[in-house]
Amino acid sequence: MFWMGLEGMVQMYLSAMEDVFAREEVAALKAQVKSAKSVVITSHRSPDGDAIGSSLALKHMLSAMGVSSTVVMPDAYAKFLHWMPGHDSVRFHDAEPEAVGTLVAEADILFCLDYNAPSRAGGLADSVKEACPNKRSTVVMIDHHQEPEPFADMMLSDPTTGSTCELIYRLLRAWDMEEALDADLASCLYTGLITDTGSFRFSSVQPSSHDMASALLATGMDHSRIHSLIYDACRLEQVQLTAYALSQKLQVFPEHRSAIISLSLAELQRYNAQKGDTEGLVNRALAIEGINFAAFIKEDVDRVKMSLRSRGTFSVRDVAAAHFNGGGHHNAAGGACQGESLQSVVGRMVALIPTWSDDLQYDD
Ligand code: 5GP
Ligand code: MN
Repeated sequence: MFWMGLEGMVQMYLSAMEDVFAREEVAALKAQVKSAKSVVITSHRSPDGDAIGSSLALKHMLSAMGVSSTVVMPDAYAKFLHWMPGHDSVRFHDAEPEAVGTLVAEADILFCLDYNAPSRAGGLADSVKEACPNKRSTVVMIDHHQEPEPFADMMLSDPTTGSTCELIYRLLRAWDMEEALDADLASCLYTGLITDTGSFRFSSVQPSSHDMASALLATGMDHSRIHSLIYDACRLEQVQLTAYALSQKLQVFPEHRSAIISLSLAELQRYNAQKGDTEGLVNRALAIEGINFAAFIKEDVDRVKMSLRSRGTFSVRDVAAAHFNGGGHHNAAGGACQGESLQSVVGRMVALIPTWSDDLQYDD
């Protein structure tokens, strides 16, 4: 038994070490893409910088190979990402559900980027599920979230990596396409790299993340302008919403090293909140000295959505998966509750926090 256990552990270690982009099927995919008639690139609901960045980067890569592709998103994304090269060509499922649904369900090659389960694709989920058993479609998942659902024909998953954009850069190298790396492609990749690593702050950052940044900067890409476009483009109402949330809606539980912020639809509407306006708010709660767990909970038209963050050993992915129909990463996760009021979700969170108290008593 001991030796069996050891062998299992060695196998686990080897699979964690495996470079999924060195697989033969990845090289074969390049030829397959070249002969495909319809290539469609999708990402998750409420797409963020990594979702859009990786999708547009892959589109640029494919067009450098002479392959045209369509980027399709379940719904719109924040204005601070509209500057990205290729943004004008993106199609949205909520704007044209039938045409976009058919495009996805009938793609020769369907890329699923930055999500690891069809349900994360919102309105596109049914079309993705339709494409999977379809023998004509090759479904390729490229993602960095933990515990992927085995839905795609090709699963290029690496949860040790900080962003999907880093995986697309590995694909670029695996396909020997370094010469295609121009300032436009670099800008897309850099966006996902900085938004998913908190501008190189999170523990997911590896030496290879900085190697990649170096290669991107060498294209002449204006990294300082990209930071400004993403982080210094707040509307006055957004700044005032943040001020209101922090001064009136922040609940701190110092004895449990936890903090939460919640906002109702009425409060969001009072500040004319737009998509992306509350992004980063949860990090303000986590930035409080001594706090190891933070939650931002907001009421949406059809659900209650939350962002969870932690420092150190406490897993917010486990919290999201166990209690709030969600998932994500160890220190950054999210969840959504349908058919439950904001008050009820906040009440559940407030009741759960003391039960995690022992696990949250640490300094790092
Ligand atoms: P954010 O709080 O920035 O929206 O998301 C943090 C992380 O959790 C991201 O990696 C995101 O993909 C994941 N995440 C956010 N919401 C959900 C959700 O409802 N379900 C799952 N499975 N993951 C989520
Ligand atoms: Mn990501």
